[in-house]
Amino acid sequence: MAIRETRHIIKGQETSDGAGVKMKRLFPVPGVTQVDPFLLFDEFGSDDPGAYIGGFPDHPHRGFETVTYMLAGRMRHFDSRGNSGLLVSGGAQWMTAGRGLIHSEMPEQTDGLMRGFQIWINLPAAEKMAAPRYQDYAPAEIPATKLPNGIVLKVVAGTAEGISGPVNGVSRQPLLVDAALPAGTSWRHKVDAQATVLAHVFEGSAEIGGRPVGATQMAVLGEGDEIDIEAGPDGARILVLAARPIGEPVVRAGPFVMNTRAEIEQAFKDYQSGQLA
Ligand code: MN
Repeated sequence: MAIRETRHIIKGQETSDGAGVKMKRLFPVPGVTQVDPFLLFDEFGSDDPGAYIGGFPDHPHRGFETVTYMLAGRMRHFDSRGNSGLLVSGGAQWMTAGRGLIHSEMPEQTDGLMRGFQIWINLPAAEKMAAPRYQDYAPAEIPATKLPNGIVLKVVAGTAEGISGPVNGVSRQPLLVDAALPAGTSWRHKVDAQATVLAHVFEGSAEIGGRPVGATQMAVLGEGDEIDIEAGPDGARILVLAARPIGEPVVRAGPFVMNTRAEIEQAFKDYQSGQLA
């Protein structure tokens, strides 16, 4: 048994993407291009419609997965094959882009708070050209458990404290847990020793792997098979993510993430010739 120590703390930077959606990007940022197999982690949150109303109009993806987890607000998803889904507060979408598609992610509200996360997870070469797949889960489909000390866990993917999330059949054996820790509580949890583990504090503060981590900061954990989180004086809400690294070359250009330059050029050709529609 070895507790994972925090190796780095990522502070991220304010940015905007899509049609001007304001967000905090933990990575990629200068100095942190990826944390294999994680390619991107964005936290968006605003009560100003002007900061999110433009949404993310039609754009392609190929070669990886996008995970959206909503804390507040509603986001409508459409794709080039006629699929549609509505993500609501507390819901999640796990999209395996595989060989590719074109989709839009648009707010379905004109006022109030919009808040959530988008995470990109890479696919190994053997799965990059798989058929696209969506998993959309309503809040009621995401199981929650309350531990005796008051900690509440919602499990989107993987297993924690005996409950398993609904996400299935995806690469890298992921864990995605939304953990709410009351002040003064601590959570020690066994994790896959082969996985990359990230812990993003989105409210309050915590000591994670022996280091203090403040709100909107992310701990990148080192080797071990257990995580140790101690909530700060105001408690903490933390997204815990784990997934097995891939260890292959990564060539990325905008919405395409492949292994070689030639594959990226092919992706642009396929997009321009309508092959992703
Ligand atoms: Mn997208």
